[in-house]
Amino acid sequence: MPRLEIILAQIEQNARILSELYATRGVSLMGVSKAVLGDPAIAQAMIQGGVNFIADSRLENLARMRKAGLKTQLVLLRTALSQAEAVVRVADISLNTEFATLKCLSYHAEQQRRQHQVIVMVELGDLREGVMPCDLPQFIQQTLSLPNLKLVGIGCNLACYGAIKPNERNMAKLSQIVSDLERKFGLDLRIHSGGNSANYQWFKTAQSLGNINNIRLGESILLGCDTANSNAIPGLHHQAFQLVAEVIESKAKPSLPWGEVCQDAFGSVPQFRDRGSEQRTIVALGKQDIASGSLQSKQQLDILGASSDHLILSGQQPFPIGQELQFSLDYGGLLAAMTSPFVEKRFVHTLE
Ligand SMILES: *Cc1c(COP(=O)(O)O)cnc(C)c1O
Repeated sequence: MPRLEIILAQIEQNARILSELYATRGVSLMGVSKAVLGDPAIAQAMIQGGVNFIADSRLENLARMRKAGLKTQLVLLRTALSQAEAVVRVADISLNTEFATLKCLSYHAEQQRRQHQVIVMVELGDLREGVMPCDLPQFIQQTLSLPNLKLVGIGCNLACYGAIKPNERNMAKLSQIVSDLERKFGLDLRIHSGGNSANYQWFKTAQSLGNINNIRLGESILLGCDTANSNAIPGLHHQAFQLVAEVIESKAKPSLPWGEVCQDAFGSVPQFRDRGSEQRTIVALGKQDIASGSLQSKQQLDILGASSDHLILSGQQPFPIGQELQFSLDYGGLLAAMTSPFVEKRFVHTLE
């Protein structure tokens, strides 16, 4: 206790529905596994659902999936120079934005007598990773000069840091950049990767997708969400993950703390509203496992807050000590729960 229950069949179905949807307009999928720490069973469910690649930001997660024998191309989303030797050994493809790193990848590919494939990421306004468009021609020319590297794609990433929405304008810009580069250097790149789960609305509404032929999806496969506005995508499963934790105290108590005020365990002085006496429940779950704001009670209880190991709830009814309560969780919550060593991960089956 606590435990995260995972329904693989629903993840597979989400991956299948999205793979079929995106394929209708010629777009392949990378299933992104970073929120589930590269769990091989979950990645396998994505593969069975039809994704064409598995991508992860952490090399350790890719290594875990490689070791488990997953039969798909593994893509590293975040490349660090100091890991170049292992990147070449573990990943088939990596996303890159720095020539120093590419040089190092090329060196190690040569040492390991293999070819390493790279996708160059373009900055289109979100201000996370990406080569500035004006610097691209020179960057690509330098990249092409490196032995043992093969440039297989161009990509961009939006709606991650700067909350910039993928739309027809910036996706047309990416298409234009790709075709200009292909013409200039006589390339025929396999992957034109337009973005992530936030690209859903663009995909559904755009008149033309230009030459975009790939998208990288984590959250929409795992939680069924369009992340540009946190909307649920109709037809997908949204509860493939649920967190279960145990009631350790259930009592009627005042809603207002009493005594002399100091700081709480995290250095702040919280404000409370007097709601009279209420039925309060404590569950064995805390900030060390997950932020309380990432949770939603399936029993419709109000989540008042948490300390490191106690989650405080209020509701109408008392609960027997030892009873299990269920919570759904958002993407940040999923990431945190997967990462906490105190949360057991359990695959469950449903009759649906
Ligand atoms: C995390 C990540 C993704 C997947 O994002 P989701 O919102 O989970 O779909 C795609 N591309 C890159 C580069 C990422 O870091």
